[in-house]
Amino acid sequence: MIPSVLPTYNRAPLQFVKGEGTWLIEADGRRFLDLGAGIAVNALGHAHPALVEALTTQAQALWHVSNLYEIPQQQALADKLVDNTFADTVFFTNSGTEACELAVKMARKYFYEKGQPERIEILTFDGSFHGRSSAGIAAAGSEKMTKGFGPTMPGFVHLTFGDLDGVTNAITDKTAAIMIEPVQGEGGIRPVPDAEMKALRQICDEHGLLLILDEVQCGVGRTGKLFAYEWAGITPDIMMVAKGIGGGFPLGAVLATEDAASGMTAGTHGSTYGGNPLGCAVGCVVMDHVADAEFLAEVNRKSSLLRQKLEGLVADHPEVFESVRGSGLMLGLKCVAVNIDVVNAGYDNQVITVPAADNVIRLLPPLTLTDDDIAEAVARLDKAAAQVETQLATA
Ligand SMILES: *Cc1c(COP(=O)(O)O)cnc(C)c1O
Repeated sequence: MIPSVLPTYNRAPLQFVKGEGTWLIEADGRRFLDLGAGIAVNALGHAHPALVEALTTQAQALWHVSNLYEIPQQQALADKLVDNTFADTVFFTNSGTEACELAVKMARKYFYEKGQPERIEILTFDGSFHGRSSAGIAAAGSEKMTKGFGPTMPGFVHLTFGDLDGVTNAITDKTAAIMIEPVQGEGGIRPVPDAEMKALRQICDEHGLLLILDEVQCGVGRTGKLFAYEWAGITPDIMMVAKGIGGGFPLGAVLATEDAASGMTAGTHGSTYGGNPLGCAVGCVVMDHVADAEFLAEVNRKSSLLRQKLEGLVADHPEVFESVRGSGLMLGLKCVAVNIDVVNAGYDNQVITVPAADNVIRLLPPLTLTDDDIAEAVARLDKAAAQVETQLATA
């Protein structure tokens, strides 16, 4: 008999009932160190007092009001995003894949309004992930995501990650945009080198294409800059944001320049819940913390500390780990052993990591984790690795 919850997930037998900072408490009372943060969502950790305060205060005043009316919390959050990024304008969604939908619509509408309606194609890369909506799966293009779901939305050209010549060769008079994650998340923590980001920007400029960045996972302070594009010294035309921006409340956004957004006039897009008072009240507090230079400096300091300790861990367990990669507090451990076995051994030792493609485990801890948490994380990963070694020896 089918479970009452549609069985689309492989769930671990863990039931968390409470969160405190970097810690999750299981129904049986065990405390787990959370290096997953709900897949880069709980940017300020669990139950951050300022987020609880913002949410409960707003909940007592007003939960929902339609976008038929002005929403001051939405205006405030848009202003913060515009003040701190390349963007001139922001549309709010509830998730990353909804942001992908709008990014695609916006790029196509841009060329339509410029009298080039044939320019609908968006270049994307293998290993990418842009969510599970029809545009999201078409953008990623992998058989794993699209097979069986009927006609895939046309207009995406799938290229090899890291192949710049492939990009230039794929451009035709139908090309509208390049869509890329500055650091692939689901794809296995694969950063795009700064030089390549610069080259992509240049290719877009030369051919009049729009550069769409998917910073749903790598944005909001995750890499040690407010947004990852800053590392390369470039700016996109359109950017997808979600996950960390709501600190755990469902919230996403599309950021754009005035020019890129010029086709999106009244009536061309909408969302019932997108930009609701609850989400935006919380998002404002997240931005106040994360857009702060001292906060970001701490993310970078803790990243170096964690990374250095992880290099030691890899050296101590060559049968389990191959290398450390990533940026800021978006780190990946490329495994020699099967990554799922390492994640499961982590559960046994009460530390949470997240598997990714390319046999990687992801470490995406709350950006607020402490130095003590880092020491504890590495100690627990060390025990987990030793457990995997024992399993390998007795297999
Ligand atoms: C998670 C993710 C998405 C999809 O976000 P949802 O909120 O799950 O729809 C899109 N792009 C990237 C890079 C992601 O990591």
